[in-house]
Amino acid sequence: MTRSTPSSARCYVEISRRQLAANYNAVRRTVGPDVDVMGVVKAEAYGHGMVEVARVLEAHGARWLAVSTVAEGAALRAAGLKAEILVMAGLLAPDPAVAIAQRLTPVAHSLEDIAAFDKASLAAGQPLPFHLKLDTGMARLGTRATPAAIAHALAGLRSARCEGLLTHFASASDFTTPQTTLQIECFDELTGALAELGVRPKYLHLSSTNAIAYARPHAWRTIVRPGHAIYGYVSPAKGNGPPSDLAVAPALSWKAKIVAVKDVPANTLVGYGGTACTRRATRMAILGAGYADGIPHRLSNRGRVIAGGKFAPILGTVSMDLTTIDITDSAKLSPGDDVTLLGTEGRLSINAQEMARVAGTISYNVLCGIKPRVERVYID
Ligand SMILES: *Cc1c(COP(=O)(O)O)cnc(C)c1O
Repeated sequence: MTRSTPSSARCYVEISRRQLAANYNAVRRTVGPDVDVMGVVKAEAYGHGMVEVARVLEAHGARWLAVSTVAEGAALRAAGLKAEILVMAGLLAPDPAVAIAQRLTPVAHSLEDIAAFDKASLAAGQPLPFHLKLDTGMARLGTRATPAAIAHALAGLRSARCEGLLTHFASASDFTTPQTTLQIECFDELTGALAELGVRPKYLHLSSTNAIAYARPHAWRTIVRPGHAIYGYVSPAKGNGPPSDLAVAPALSWKAKIVAVKDVPANTLVGYGGTACTRRATRMAILGAGYADGIPHRLSNRGRVIAGGKFAPILGTVSMDLTTIDITDSAKLSPGDDVTLLGTEGRLSINAQEMARVAGTISYNVLCGIKPRVERVYID
C-alpha cells in the first residue's frame, strides 16, 4: 500500500499556512482590536521556517514581527518583509549599525545599550527607534536600573529614541506562584514612575503566549508577543489556572519514510548497544530519520510514532540517521511509505508536548530541534 505524499524526502515537515493564519487570528480575536499582535518568528519560527511564517503573518495584517538577532532581522528584510521587526535577544557591539541599516527595532537591556544605540545612530546619521526591557523579576535580560537613572539616560539621547517599554514573564502558566502578578505590579510601578519623569513611550508590552492564553488582559497593553500560540501550542497550566481561551492547533506535521521492512524472530537484539530484545516474532520498519533530523535520542525504547494508522513503538536506540519501529500490529507497510512522528493519522495524533514529555524536554525544544536538513513543505 503506497500512501500519497507531498514529498519524496526521507524526512520532512508539512506546515499548514492556513493553520498558522488561524492561530494568529485566534490570538487577535482574544486580545481584541486595540492590541497589536507581534508574531515571534525567532529561531526559524520554532522550526516552521522564519521567512515563510513571516510572510503568512504579514499577509494577514501583522504590523510587527519579533526575532532574536539582527542576523534574523536582516534575513527577513532580504526576503522582502516590510513589518516592524523587534530584535529581542541582546545586541553585541557591531549590531546597532546593522539594525539601523536594516530598519530593525532593537531592544536595549541596559543603560550601556542605550548609550551605544545613540552613538551608532549619531554615527550613521539616521534615527534608531528602540524598546527598553525592564527586568521585573525574571533575572535574565533587562535593566534593573532605577526609574531616575533610566529617565536620565533617555533624556540624554541625541539621536536614538525609546519607543517602547517591555518585560518578559518567567512563569506565566504557573498558578502556584504569585511571580507573574508580582512582575506585572513591578512593571506598573516602574512604568508609572517613568511616566512621572516624562518617559511615556508609545508601546508597552509584557505578554507572550501563556499570558494571552491564561487571560491576563491587564498584561496585554499595546502589544502582545506570541510565539508558541502561532504554532498551535499553549503550555499546560500548573495549579489552579483559568482554562486556556485560545483556539489554536498545531500547524506542523512531521513525517519520515520507511527505508526498509524486515521480520526478525523473538529474542533478537535491536540496534546500537542491543538495548531492545524482541519478545515475539517482530516485523520492524527502519525509518530514514534519526537524531540528526531532530528525533530526540531520549525517545530510544520509549517513544512512538503513528504507522499505518496505529501507534508503533520505537525499538532500540534512535541512531543518527535511522530509527527502528515495531510495526507487527500495523497495517502492511512498505519502503517509501510515510509514518507520522508528529501530527494526525486517522483518529490518532502525537503532538510536540507529548513527544517532549516522553523525551524529558519541552515542546519548544522539540520544535526547535527539527533540523534544517528536514525538508519544509508548505501547504495551504
Ligand atoms: C520567545 C519570546 C516570546 C514568545 O514566547 P512564547 O512563549 O513562544 O509565546 C516573547 N517574548 C520574548 C522576549 C521572547 O524571548
